[in-house]
Amino acid sequence: MPASYDVIVVGLGGMGSAAAYHLAARGRRVLGLERFGPAHNLGSSHGGSRIYRQAYFEDSAYVPLLLRAHELWEKLAVDSGREVFIETGGLMIGRESSAAFAGTLDSARRWDLDHEVLTAADIRRRFPTFRPAAEDVGFHERRAGVALPEATVTAHLELAQAHGAELHFAEGVLGWEADGPGRKAWVVTDRGAYTADRLVIAPGAWASKLLPDLGVNVTVERQVMYWFQPESGVGPFSADRHPVYIWEDPDGTRIYGFPALDGAEGGAKVAFFRKGVPSDPDSLDRRIHPDEITAMSEYLRTRIPTLPGSFLKAAACMYANTADEHFVVSQHPDHPRVTVACGFSGHGFKFVPVVGEILADLATEGTTKHSIALFDPRRVRV
Ligand SMILES: Cc1cc2nc3c(=O)[nH]c(=O)nc-3n(C[C@H](O)[C@H](O)[C@H](O)COP(=O)(O)OP(=O)(O)OC[C@H]3O[C@@H](n4cnc5c(N)ncnc54)[C@H](O)[C@@H]3O)c2cc1C
Repeated sequence: MPASYDVIVVGLGGMGSAAAYHLAARGRRVLGLERFGPAHNLGSSHGGSRIYRQAYFEDSAYVPLLLRAHELWEKLAVDSGREVFIETGGLMIGRESSAAFAGTLDSARRWDLDHEVLTAADIRRRFPTFRPAAEDVGFHERRAGVALPEATVTAHLELAQAHGAELHFAEGVLGWEADGPGRKAWVVTDRGAYTADRLVIAPGAWASKLLPDLGVNVTVERQVMYWFQPESGVGPFSADRHPVYIWEDPDGTRIYGFPALDGAEGGAKVAFFRKGVPSDPDSLDRRIHPDEITAMSEYLRTRIPTLPGSFLKAAACMYANTADEHFVVSQHPDHPRVTVACGFSGHGFKFVPVVGEILADLATEGTTKHSIALFDPRRVRV
């Protein structure tokens, strides 16, 4: 007989590691299965930093989840003894009508979130690394900051293990089955087979391979993160002086970036938001091409002119997009024993701790007190 568990979590990246922790902390017998190593750099949860913000232009419905995520980041830091989150403040720059500014402001007003609206002159004075156009405006919120993805995944994995979860790395899941009255769910891997009462499947960019009958088209987009050593040195970019930011141009192009987090040598990270090349997760082009580096340096010259002093490094990552760029977090519509989490569409990491809590709720209670109607897969089923 194969070994049997209460819950098997497939995929121990951002979402799966958080689910494994919340389930194990509730006393469930948990098996976690991950094809790569712990906190690896081959999926969507690497690169040292992720923006966390509270006023949310993507949809105001995310705000209560962000507030709960904030509480859970703080708890995770205490429970794990790791630095998983740094509050730096966050700045949105764009024209008054841009989604980044107008949508964020609308969300802040709806939820009464603490914020300040800045003119272009205010931005230049308070955050002198930025060169906004005279018509640009800024939205600043103090509670925004940086989530540290590798440290977060490591913290969740360590705490899951401390609560008794069994975690297998370098073990790829080949398939699963979860139907039939009274039967348990089965998972077959390249090393063996296991059974459980419930499955949580959080496969990131591999959603279309592990969840073929979910009926949701999750497309993978290659994204590049760039680190530059600022011409000015990292001083003006240090985390106690520099916010995380998203900057939207009138043509819709967005960049986002971070303060310098890795000391004098590490530089500051910046990236284009979306605009990536459609890719297959198993054959992602992980090389960074010289013309990509040139394009980013040139883009920065007129906006954050001291940032592209010298190019340090770059890395590829994957967005896993749904058609409407909202998440899928739900019980599988056709398999009640299975809970799914996918399609985080390039903006999921800031929710990791609360998604872990929701997945544990769904897998143990079949329901959650959090409002997740927006994440129902049936809205985008093809
Ligand atoms: C460049 C970049 C910048 C981003 N910036 C931000 C940001 O600033 N703020 C923000 O909130 N979000 C951001 N995101 C998005 C966020 O990082 C993702 O939404 C989040 O990390 C997705 O987590 P996940 O658990 O779905 O995927 P992953 O962390 O990739 O986890 C999926 C796991 O499943 C495993 N797996 C897949 N198939 C199998 C199998 N068959 N067997 C076993 N294991 C399997 C994979 O190996 C992987 O470990 C960014 C993403 C990228 C790429």
